[in-house]
Amino acid sequence: MYILLNPGPVNLSKRVRKALLKPDLCHREIEFTELQNNIRQKLLEVYSLNPVDWAAILLTGSGTSAMEAMLTSVVPDDGKVLVVENGVYGERLSKIAGIYNIDYLNLHYRWGDEILPDELDKALTDEITHVAVIHHETTTGRLNNLADISSICKSRNIPVLVDGVSSFAAEEIIFNDWNVIACAATANKCLHGVPGASFVICKREALGLNKQRSLYLDLDTYLQQQDGGGTPFTQSIQCFYALEEALDEHYEQGGWKARNEMYWNRMDRVREGFDSIGINALLEKKDCSSVLNSFYLPGKTDYSTLHDELKKRGFVIYAGQGDLSRSIFRISLMGEINDDAIQGLISSMAEII
Ligand SMILES: *Cc1c(COP(=O)(O)O)cnc(C)c1O
Repeated sequence: MYILLNPGPVNLSKRVRKALLKPDLCHREIEFTELQNNIRQKLLEVYSLNPVDWAAILLTGSGTSAMEAMLTSVVPDDGKVLVVENGVYGERLSKIAGIYNIDYLNLHYRWGDEILPDELDKALTDEITHVAVIHHETTTGRLNNLADISSICKSRNIPVLVDGVSSFAAEEIIFNDWNVIACAATANKCLHGVPGASFVICKREALGLNKQRSLYLDLDTYLQQQDGGGTPFTQSIQCFYALEEALDEHYEQGGWKARNEMYWNRMDRVREGFDSIGINALLEKKDCSSVLNSFYLPGKTDYSTLHDELKKRGFVIYAGQGDLSRSIFRISLMGEINDDAIQGLISSMAEII
């Protein structure tokens, strides 16, 4: 089996894999209702959110389905959203807004650049009703400064939509303080579940304010039915089993803070190990997430050689996107990865270059 150093799907723990083998279920039976209720409650508990004001809404689909559901369900008909872009995923939010004819403006930065609070402040003209931003921009590994961004939004009473797909369950998200009204995320990144289930953590009051834009991705429809114990469409039962198990494991291991420490523990060793053989990180540690860091390709080695040689040794690394594919590669350290694997990665890298 390969050690996956891509930003999800991740190597599963034994107990999560075993959960996939639980009994077959019909999604119109009480056993499914219990499973769904448990997951929804446990998702809110990750950041201690109150179920009176907040709801976890479960979808069958990858992280992008949660982004699309969030944007199309939360921005009102007469709203206008400022999309902050500094990577592929921010640009994806704008694409979604464009496809659905949601009124939007973008505040654009080059991939990897810092979002400047002053510029955000200027971009927030009176017509802007919502801000949408990526928390951890997986394109580069930059952890966007959500605290600064949201304090500006909060001072103007503008709600924030967050793509937390690659940060939820491993980075700090202060929902109430940060004026967050919705956060899209997935089962198969920092939560260590399997791909196929995603979700939006949403303020209840944020839904039902627009004409329905999508049949399949309308969060209000899901909310009504999930609150009643049902589901509008067939859900991916086995993925749900795995997600519940992964949530239990996450909780037992100490929650998001412990996961953040565990990732940094791994990443610090990789950064130091790579540094000692002349492989430099793209961004300073203070600007990075714990989840994924980018590194410059070493001198004479191109990406495909590096990838193939590492794969022969059991490691799957991840390419840069777009123009960055020629200059960087990415390492993510989510999932079941032991100390030997980290050491093995560093020594394999030394051998190859
Ligand atoms: C992985 C990721 C997504 C979703 O990608 P899918 O391939 O649809 O799962 C969205 N946003 C960010 C920041 C991501 O890292």
